[in-house]
Amino acid sequence: MQVRITVSFPYEAPVSQSLFDRASAVTPGGVNSPVRAFRAVGGTPRFMVSGTGPYLTDADGREYVDLVCSWGPMILGHSHPEVIAAVQEAVARGTSFGTPGAGEVELAEEIVARIEPVEQVRLVSSGTEATMSAIRLARGFTGRPKVIKFAGCYHGHVDALLAAAGSGVATLGLPDTPGVTGAQAGDTIVLPYNDLEAVRAAFAAHPGEIACVITEAAPGNMGVVPPLPGFNQGLKDLCAGNGALYISDEVMTGFRVSKAGWYGIDGVRPDLMTFGKVMGGGFPAAAFGGRTDVMAHLAPAGPVYQAGTLSGNPIATAAGVAQLRLLDDAAYEKVDAVSAEVRGLVTAALAKEGVAHRVQTAGNMFTVFFTDAEVTDYDAAKAQESFRFTAFFHSMLAQGVYLPPSAFESWFVSTAHDTAAVERIAAALPAAARAAAAATA
Ligand code: PLP
Repeated sequence: MQVRITVSFPYEAPVSQSLFDRASAVTPGGVNSPVRAFRAVGGTPRFMVSGTGPYLTDADGREYVDLVCSWGPMILGHSHPEVIAAVQEAVARGTSFGTPGAGEVELAEEIVARIEPVEQVRLVSSGTEATMSAIRLARGFTGRPKVIKFAGCYHGHVDALLAAAGSGVATLGLPDTPGVTGAQAGDTIVLPYNDLEAVRAAFAAHPGEIACVITEAAPGNMGVVPPLPGFNQGLKDLCAGNGALYISDEVMTGFRVSKAGWYGIDGVRPDLMTFGKVMGGGFPAAAFGGRTDVMAHLAPAGPVYQAGTLSGNPIATAAGVAQLRLLDDAAYEKVDAVSAEVRGLVTAALAKEGVAHRVQTAGNMFTVFFTDAEVTDYDAAKAQESFRFTAFFHSMLAQGVYLPPSAFESWFVSTAHDTAAVERIAAALPAAARAAAAATA
């Protein structure tokens, strides 16, 4: 096993700070995706220059155990040799052709083979595109305007889906986003998560008007808040009974929590599904798919338009295919085991310091909420003592463990998180737990 030298981490990050200053001059807020700016926790965002296995190295030359994994995609760790080799081989053949290519077929076949309800799939470049297109397709297929979504669920920055969204919208405490017009959001019905009665009432109030219900298969964007038993099945049944489509957003859970994502865990069969993150192997690749009779409405087979210059890009599909083929049962067992180990260590450290907390899981995804109440919806998530997370986060960061810079996100591990990486996390936890205990609002 590789021997790693434990170094102490001074809090300052001068090179990252100078990059952030330069970035802030030319990019709004200094980042290209809001949560990266550390606004929720304060301090200097770390500019990363490389990643290997479970580790990231920042521009100041400091190494961190990565518990973000690029927000999910890096399930095999960073720079996995077989994924890198597949990418290098693809790059050598050219970077984009604007024509169909064999890689797209292979990736689509990998997805269809793994996720039984996906009979046909269309490749796109981001999860946002996937959910946006799935909603358009649902509206085109049903001829209905309205969409039900849940508070705290994030489906990308689709205009119609930003209302009461999780992820960065939750992190920044934005109620709704300026720039989204009443017309764009007016057909969105936002309901509390895990509340089937509210869904039933909405269908009753809008007969024949609801095109679809879109939900995160198991939400990770208000922190991890799994569906209560029967919730997803109830959604499916209500959709089926009312002529609406059930769209399961598996951008985060897909190919991460099992070979068949959350569908592989709860078995509730969606009409349409969306994917991203893991299926791109760290490149911009995403997808939506489902019932053939619904997908047949998509151009050029049908009238619902959808397109993309870089959709099915050969590098992205090569990375995705390589990553998916490496994700066998043993890989998921490993990720599940590391996740359980890290959760156990966090709980033990926080309990020792008497810090109220609750670790919630959806397969190997998890969030440490700083509350002892069960979190079943967005309001409950927001009621946690997130100031304790801030102290915890900075202590971990200073000790070389990179957590999501927000209390409203999932933590992610990979097959590359080995004993040495877990030991580093374990070594950092006591001080972080003490910092959390001492924190004040
Ligand atoms: N859907 C879910 C469940 C997500 O978690 C995300 C991103 O975090 C998206 C959609 C949007 O994906 P992207 O950031 O690739 O646009």
